[in-house]
Amino acid sequence: PSKQTSSFGPSVWLEFSPLAIKYDSVNLGQGFPNFEPPKFVKDAMIKTIEVGGFNQYTRSPGHLRLVKALSSVYSPYFDRELNPMTEIMVGVGASESLFAAISSIVNKGDEVILIEPFFDIYIGPILMAGGIPKFVTLKEDSESINGAPRSSKNWKINKEELAAAFSDKTKLIIINNPHNPVGKVYSKEELQEIADVVVKHGPNTTVISDEVYEWMTFDGVKHHRFATLPGMWDRTITIGSAGKTFSITGWKVGWCIGPANIIGAIANTHQYIPFSVPTPTQEAVAIALEQPNIKEYFVELATMYQKKRDTLLNTLTQAGLDPVIPEGTYFIMGDTSSIKLQGDQGKDTSITGMGLHLRDWNIARYLTTEYGVTTIPPSAFYCDDHQKIPENFVRFTFCKDDVTLQRAHSNLLKLK
Ligand code: PMP
Ligand code: GLN
Repeated sequence: PSKQTSSFGPSVWLEFSPLAIKYDSVNLGQGFPNFEPPKFVKDAMIKTIEVGGFNQYTRSPGHLRLVKALSSVYSPYFDRELNPMTEIMVGVGASESLFAAISSIVNKGDEVILIEPFFDIYIGPILMAGGIPKFVTLKEDSESINGAPRSSKNWKINKEELAAAFSDKTKLIIINNPHNPVGKVYSKEELQEIADVVVKHGPNTTVISDEVYEWMTFDGVKHHRFATLPGMWDRTITIGSAGKTFSITGWKVGWCIGPANIIGAIANTHQYIPFSVPTPTQEAVAIALEQPNIKEYFVELATMYQKKRDTLLNTLTQAGLDPVIPEGTYFIMGDTSSIKLQGDQGKDTSITGMGLHLRDWNIARYLTTEYGVTTIPPSAFYCDDHQKIPENFVRFTFCKDDVTLQRAHSNLLKLK
């Protein structure tokens, strides 16, 4: 391998999805829905194929019908008329959108601030660009733990720590809101605090706001877009994903929205990665977004997920896994302090040999092999020096059909 990629090993996904299959365990690990997408989304794809004419490359920065549909859906949420030709780029999922964005912004030796836990996919492109990640950790306010139900809103960034992470080499900060894996939805005040620190300590810093779980917020909690804060549009790239919004993670359609100068640079980079995104999936996502009642659909999506969240919260509480109630996303952090491992439990069943020295990995394997429920160890979302911080947690997803959540319930109650 090249120097820049030599530190890459198999990722957490390569341990736990195969382990779930091997042990026929209920897979609440990797976040992908195991139910069908809505009928109007499937119909959009059927129509695309039937009409025909969408089988060749399309416009590199995004299929025309899709960038136009994205502009009309998103303009009101960004409080501005988004130019579909210059302010939106479509990528192969949010993943390639992030890759193209990070590669287009970061120089060798530049520093990039990540909020820990961070979605693991951010690290690869930073290292490939020769960037240096700096970490600021979200911490659960310990006073909030005593007695009261735990909530993702008690996981906070310390403003002074954030300010201290900036240097004259800081080029980029990546925030993820709603936040995978904690489920935090930043309040407007919290986002403003981040914006203030950026302006004060990193005047030349670009912000990537990964908002792929934008429509999944619960209990009336409102999602605020970083790009809409005063002065932030010019420096913010917002990332979205049709995979999350329409339960079609395998279609791999995502996008970047931001000012023309940065989107232009990202689009230039994107020419050298996939050149263009598959045409039929873009056409179908465009048709889906053109539904007249699309706003109601976004609300229904949140309602569906809030029910699933409550089902899983109930299971985790009954099983003694003291959950952190998420305000958004489709993930829940469960506290495994009540589980005691003996001897080599959790080590001997490893497929990749990774994380043998880490409690959360061993607990996640033990839950798979002994209780038939697969989760993700959150240390995968922390830097090397902070691997022990989340050792008493595992991440569960609830983007599963009700039968699956019911099976997980029966299996996890055996912990009692
Ligand atoms: N960002 C976050 C926070 C995610 O959880 C995911 C899910 N894999 C992605 C980006 C990538 O999304 P996509 O599946 O559209 O590539
Ligand atoms: N975003 C999903 C998760 O966090 C899927 C991750 C992936 O497939 N790499 O589970």
